[in-house]
Amino acid sequence: MPLYWHRRDLRVSDNCGLERAAAFDEPIVPVFVLDPTVLEHASPVRVACLCEALEALRARYRDRGSDLLVVRGEASAVLPELAADHGVETVVWADDYGGLARDRDRAVTAALEDAGVACEPVHDAIHHEPGSITPNQGEFYSVFSYFWKKWRDREKHAPVDGPTEDDLADPNGEPIPSPSALGFDEPESTPPTVTPTAARRRLESFCDANIYRYADERDVPSAGATSRLSIHLKWGTVGVRTVYDATDAAAERASDDDDRKSVAAFQRQLAWREFYVHVLAFNPETVTENFSGYENEIPWRNDPDELAAWKAGETGFPIVDAGMRQLRREGWIHNRVRMLVAAFLTKDLLIDWRKGYAHFRRLLADHDTASDVGGWQWAASTGTDAQPYFRVFNPSKQGREYDPDATYVREYVPELEDASADDIHGWHDLDPADRSSIAPSYPAPIVDHGDRREAAIAAFERARGDD
Ligand code: FAD
Repeated sequence: MPLYWHRRDLRVSDNCGLERAAAFDEPIVPVFVLDPTVLEHASPVRVACLCEALEALRARYRDRGSDLLVVRGEASAVLPELAADHGVETVVWADDYGGLARDRDRAVTAALEDAGVACEPVHDAIHHEPGSITPNQGEFYSVFSYFWKKWRDREKHAPVDGPTEDDLADPNGEPIPSPSALGFDEPESTPPTVTPTAARRRLESFCDANIYRYADERDVPSAGATSRLSIHLKWGTVGVRTVYDATDAAAERASDDDDRKSVAAFQRQLAWREFYVHVLAFNPETVTENFSGYENEIPWRNDPDELAAWKAGETGFPIVDAGMRQLRREGWIHNRVRMLVAAFLTKDLLIDWRKGYAHFRRLLADHDTASDVGGWQWAASTGTDAQPYFRVFNPSKQGREYDPDATYVREYVPELEDASADDIHGWHDLDPADRSSIAPSYPAPIVDHGDRREAAIAAFERARGDD
């Protein structure tokens, strides 16, 4: 009898691991382990998402006359016990390529093998597993554009069928603990529902309409033109094959070349996710270390007040503050604004990207180690295919370009609700008297962008050993 160990694949449809387990032709015992070592690194918002997704997964199994076992304990201890209790000969799971997951999986594999139980990790979370898209020399691409061309041209697997009632055992599941029973507070933010039904609805509505305006509007944070699928891809409430298939169908329905290009622009973003998984798989140390070496240490500043202002969305740079407040309110930030707030922290404030990453990791409902580290290192000019150290985002220009009428800023920074777009994006140019008459409770800029830009470039040049 096989045991199927769910981890970040909280669905039954389009699940390659479950498909593999069903091939044993014996009833599958589905299980999720609440592992204290993993929970130690979790955060209130992520545990809330996890519990919600687990309830939905359990409901799917119950619909099929089965149940999900949810057990607490170190996976390397509880899985061999469960295997013995249920007469299990093989444990199947879907690979997770993050650093912590890999350590856990090594320990689980050793414990199961010691107990005489076979282990079958299966690729499921991405289309093309690490090591399958490689340059002529080396194991992974560090430049996205080359990776993308190969990724785009590779054939994609169609969605796989979910297990039927006949494929499943009927174990007796205990109730799923609530976040508070697991020791977590209520999250600050209210992320969207994380269930397979919510994922399917989101994918369908995106592919019916917004996918065709994605290329033109994906950088406009107030446009709502992106898919908001990241939370579902993170928790596995949708399979990557299902997502890609829906985009291909959208391409077939496209009425002209512009529509088809827009679908391709979206598929390119899906490839970014996989690119970062490949990079992390071959460079697990980059969760804490720079990917790109500099000759000297980057002289990161230690400024708790500036860091606190950034976290609170009180920097006096409206688009940066809007992003940081969106994070606290929704557990999500629009991609353009993620880039902006990350660049602001690492360049304007010259604060170590690892401090920003730790904050995102705690508050993002879609936190994914590979994409989060990849995004931070890119913004900090320490990553793969990094933005050059001398390119420093100008928050005011970015605001004018991507939020011209300041709709996005006004949504998240109510102090500026009545200010004009010109005053909002030119906040740093206003004199103090004007600022306090327009929005008395909104702060003045905490730094001078021009001065900080020069200081950051000089600091990176010293780190490169240019002087
Ligand atoms: P869409 O624009 O609809 O894109 C579709 C999907 O493509 C996304 O759901 C995501 O899976 C993938 N994708 C899109 N852009 C990127 C990208 N730049 N890098 C990797 N994958 C991408 N994404 C996460 O999923 N988790 C994270 O923890 C995360 N942290 C980030 C941190 C920083 C500093 C930066 C700059 C980016 C980060 N991203 C992260 C990438 C990106 O911002 C989000 O994937 C995107 O905003 C999610 O919204 P969406 O689903 O509407 O995206």
